[in-house]
Amino acid sequence: MKKLFFLLLLLTSVYVNAQKTLIYCGTLIDGKSDKIQKEMTIVVEGDKITSVGKGYLKSGNGDTIIDLKNKTVMPGLMDMHVHLEGESSPSSYIDEFTKNSADIAYDAAVYAEKTLMAGFTTVRDLGGSGVNISLRKAVDAGKVKGPRIYTAGKAIATTGGHADPTNGYREDLMGDPGPKEGVINGPFEARKAVRQRYKDGADVIKITATGGVLSVAKDGSGPQFDMDELKAIVETANEYGMITAAHAHGAEGMKRAVEAGITSIEHGTLMTPEIMELMKKKGTYYVPTITAGKSVEALAKIPGYYPDIIVPKALAIGPKIQQTFAEAYKAGVKIAFGTDAGVFNHGENGKEFGYMVEVGMPPMEAIKSATMTSAIMLKIDDQLGSLEKGKLADIVAVDENPLENIKTMEHVTFVMKGGIVYKSINH
Ligand SMILES: [Zn+2]
Repeated sequence: MKKLFFLLLLLTSVYVNAQKTLIYCGTLIDGKSDKIQKEMTIVVEGDKITSVGKGYLKSGNGDTIIDLKNKTVMPGLMDMHVHLEGESSPSSYIDEFTKNSADIAYDAAVYAEKTLMAGFTTVRDLGGSGVNISLRKAVDAGKVKGPRIYTAGKAIATTGGHADPTNGYREDLMGDPGPKEGVINGPFEARKAVRQRYKDGADVIKITATGGVLSVAKDGSGPQFDMDELKAIVETANEYGMITAAHAHGAEGMKRAVEAGITSIEHGTLMTPEIMELMKKKGTYYVPTITAGKSVEALAKIPGYYPDIIVPKALAIGPKIQQTFAEAYKAGVKIAFGTDAGVFNHGENGKEFGYMVEVGMPPMEAIKSATMTSAIMLKIDDQLGSLEKGKLADIVAVDENPLENIKTMEHVTFVMKGGIVYKSINH
């Protein structure tokens, strides 16, 4: 009995003295309000935010103070379109023949850390070899520094489609990949592919609804799935609680994916006003990836960087995305922030903010697209996306006020994820 009493006393005292971290925020963007707030304190206990209040709260015994009085503090950023397994280089097309899964895994760990250090505390990984699922597990277990990852595992395509993993191979290497590898023909195989990804441990489903720029194939924008295949994919994914994303450049394939109930359209290059209206009606998100468009256009001008078959596609598609984004935003389509990092260097995700603002989106809305809107799309807005009591402590800061200089988003100087500080640079 006496022992129990002391144990209770010990537990109570530990509870009372629970260490708090007080973050003094000179300027705060909380992800909910449209206005900035000045001189605020965020209190973090464990991995959660326990209060957000006015003024610089007095600290108690044993509390840690993080002084961000000269910075702008905001929720951890979210990129809804990355590929953490790889990064564009002139040797990218040889890598798939030379790199083992272990090589890819070591690369991916480096890219994950770069992404986190750039202030992106949550990402949606839209396709790789399956190493991305192992990477998520390693990050969740605290073995690798990286963002919270929601991954598609391997993307799903039709035979010869954009994400068919053996496009351009010689005959004896080409084989005949099926649903397990992410290649389907017909609704039955479509369902199998989705169920297989669920079994593999994927969180979301990615399809390539039209041709694409970087595959070794001629067509960059034509439709590649039939309606019955798209419906089977979306319905099955929804049954397993997974959201869906469709890579799409051309209008016809894009329209079919929206009609089938896809959660988001990626790139959306040749989106028509009719499709924008349809997306608004269906509640479909648009993930623009302007940075990828600009990047492939620039790289295509370097002789020999891409295989010849890719160059004309990159030059035709790349420059159009920013204008499409401007029109879709004006039309009122929901925009979730996404860059396609991996097509360009990981860690440069913040460039997208500047490109969005350049063509008419107010900075506050651009930040919201990378916080609250993305959290709602991922269905994690009860945990993340804003700085509020009870939410996970994913908090980042920049040196300047992004409403005055959006470029400051490219230089995140403070990163906390789940209450743990990963980056802290004081000036
Ligand atoms: Zn992509």
